[in-house]
Amino acid sequence: MNVTILYGGQSAEHEVSILSAFNVANAALEGGYTVQPIFITKEGQWLKGDLLNEPLNQVEDLEGLTLERMANPGELAEVDTVVFPVLHGPNGEDGTIQGFLEVLNLPYVGSGVTASACGMDKIISKQLFEKAGLPQVPYVAFNRRQWQEDQESWIQKCEGNLLYPLFVKPANMGSSVGISCAENQEELIEAVLEALIYDSRIVVEQGITADECEVAVLGNDDLSVSVVGRLVKDAQFYDYDQKYINNTVTMEIPVQLPEAVTDKIQKYALQAFQAIDGSGLSRVDFFVTSNHDIYINEINTMPGFTKFSMYPELWRHTGLSFRDLVEELIQLALRQHRARQ
Ligand code: ATP
Ligand code: MG
Ligand code: MG
Ligand code: MG
Repeated sequence: MNVTILYGGQSAEHEVSILSAFNVANAALEGGYTVQPIFITKEGQWLKGDLLNEPLNQVEDLEGLTLERMANPGELAEVDTVVFPVLHGPNGEDGTIQGFLEVLNLPYVGSGVTASACGMDKIISKQLFEKAGLPQVPYVAFNRRQWQEDQESWIQKCEGNLLYPLFVKPANMGSSVGISCAENQEELIEAVLEALIYDSRIVVEQGITADECEVAVLGNDDLSVSVVGRLVKDAQFYDYDQKYINNTVTMEIPVQLPEAVTDKIQKYALQAFQAIDGSGLSRVDFFVTSNHDIYINEINTMPGFTKFSMYPELWRHTGLSFRDLVEELIQLALRQHRARQ
């Protein structure tokens, strides 16, 4: 069986995707699959690499493949394959690629169109979480037009409903790209302008002093949940550099918390996954205060698979190796595809 790995992509998480793809490709190759790498450039060109039969030694091997421009990405449909879209962020994790694969009638790993779009959009997912009764930090959401028409009243809404520091985020993004922490009104305005570079929809959240805990969900209808992990960091804000450049963050897996607390986090993670109608996989992120109050932060329907990534590490500590995890994701994709037929 063949696995097509889509990686790179046009989002700000292009580099992260390449690192993730390297690990996923190797796991699939070790699992006995042949791997068809397809690299999507930052400009959106689809480039097809040599078919892989043996594990790669280093990320550079993936970058060093002979790549051939695909005149028509739709030709993917002619191959008997399961697609693993290891793409993060807009145009990858947000339902667009999923819609394309759906039209091609190909099995693919992860959530479908609606779940991907809802999970990626921090405003929509907050509304779904609210409906599911999940606790969240207070927030205010608006779009570019609303901000431009009446900036003053949106500042007032933020300052009237939320306490500084505020976290300002583009609704559709990941890896902390476009997110800033604002301590005052001047910084709030700056932060909104920064976030607007990445998306026209913005969410402003009340900042919280808390530990960040993450949990992994796996499955379609029958869901499994991993042990809970905690990010061990010295700065308050887990930004892009900390995630992938300096990697100043380590993980505590499983987190040392009372069982009643981790049980609740796991329960909330499953509810969040169901709230967006997810399938395949998701990593659900939480804030946990020193009093053990729990707030859901967000859901990631295609979490990172880099060597620093929490999702595969959570499963490894739950007893599922990286290779078996990738195998399970492929099987879930095939089952989901059959269920849709
Ligand atoms: P990814 O998809 O890579 O996990 P993301 O770009 O979707 O990240 P978030 O997880 O929402 O972004 O936020 C990034 C980081 O910013 C968090 O991990 C946390 O360190 C900090 N952060 C976000 N929101 C808050 C908040 N309300 N209070 C305190 N810190 C926050
Ligand atoms: Mg995210
Ligand atoms: Mg993400
Ligand atoms: Mg996050």
